[in-house]
Amino acid sequence: MRVWGVFRLAGDPPGIQTFQYSGLPMSLNHIRPWRNISRRKSRRITVGDVAVGGDAPISVQTMTNTDTSDVAATVAQVQAAAEAGADIVRVSVPDEAATRALREIVRESPVPIVADIHFHYRRAIEAAEAGAACLRINPGNIGAPARVREVIAAARDHGCAIRIGVNAGSLERHLLEKYAEPCPEAMVESALDHMRILEEHDFREYKISVKASDVFLAAAAYQALAEATDAPLHLGITEAGGLVSGTIKSAIGLGNLLWMGIGDTIRISLSADPVEEVRAGFEILKALGLRHRGVNIISCPSCARQGFDVIRTVEILEKRLEHIRTPMSLSIIGCVVNGPGEALMTDVGFTGGGAGSGMVYLAGAQSHKLSNEEMIEHIVEQVERRAAEIEAARAAADTGTGTETGAQGAARGPGARPEMA
Ligand code: SF4
Repeated sequence: MRVWGVFRLAGDPPGIQTFQYSGLPMSLNHIRPWRNISRRKSRRITVGDVAVGGDAPISVQTMTNTDTSDVAATVAQVQAAAEAGADIVRVSVPDEAATRALREIVRESPVPIVADIHFHYRRAIEAAEAGAACLRINPGNIGAPARVREVIAAARDHGCAIRIGVNAGSLERHLLEKYAEPCPEAMVESALDHMRILEEHDFREYKISVKASDVFLAAAAYQALAEATDAPLHLGITEAGGLVSGTIKSAIGLGNLLWMGIGDTIRISLSADPVEEVRAGFEILKALGLRHRGVNIISCPSCARQGFDVIRTVEILEKRLEHIRTPMSLSIIGCVVNGPGEALMTDVGFTGGGAGSGMVYLAGAQSHKLSNEEMIEHIVEQVERRAAEIEAARAAADTGTGTETGAQGAARGPGARPEMA
């Protein structure tokens, strides 16, 4: 067994610790209690083959914005989202043409499909029959009790989950009259009312969202709902905005909740390509150490001290490394002010130096000099090699033949902790 890396610890007692490495990502949270997130204990349901709630990884969702009846366009968007990492994709089914198309979309989709339905009970039944893994419908809005019964029966018969989706912008009139305005209490009451209907029909495969575009309102509503039920929660800041503003708003609202341990599945609602929603979702989960996928690039903003063009290099590397799914970390730092320190915590690192070259770090240790011109190709090679090592170590561990390999610490830093349950 090899010993790798050192960690400088503050606290009592301060000092340096070394860790032995098994070749696989491992949690070091026993020495980093400030990184622990204790997840709320929720009930586990399944959406197709994706578990939601309980100790299942927090799933990332998005929604198509094509005309659902255009099967080719919708399937292409679903596939692109799945390729980017989406675990579940939602499509809206506003009319019969859409539910007809749904059957083929479901057949072609690599991930479970959620059918988004507002009010119309026939669409819900058709979507369940077409193979949707989940119906997004509020039972209290369906209408006559007989129709509610029919929809729930269709969901049960076809193995569909249901998402109750409360939205601050469309609260029931009696709740607005009671509370005067959308507020956490009104949203939770709405959710519990819909939930009660499903429970009365002995239907428990449901999850709930209480979305608002206001981060304070959404966060307060989710916190109150988390106290009121053990149902899995679907988090979202609705109508969050464009790519940058919406991502920031979502990161604040959802980040706050996820940090508290609340949330079982998330969707980042952006006025942007669904692939961007998936990327944003994963970045939020990655920042909190809740899930990892692909290369976590740690890079400096650059300044006059940079030994190479950091911004352009990172832009190119982000594109060149999109195909890597293995969780790992890469530091790209402009100079020695922070480069060696960051490289200590990453799988692969490059720190700018002088005279057109810099230093490559592998597994936290200084390795070799490299000219700036060769940097991109060489770093891509090093990252691919490291990803292969991690996958080989994982495969060996899965088959019970795990041996201590020379592959180095995927566990360090913010980059590559294992997916947290
Ligand atoms: S690491 Fe160096 S180049 Fe990067 S921002 Fe800091 S001082 Fe500037």
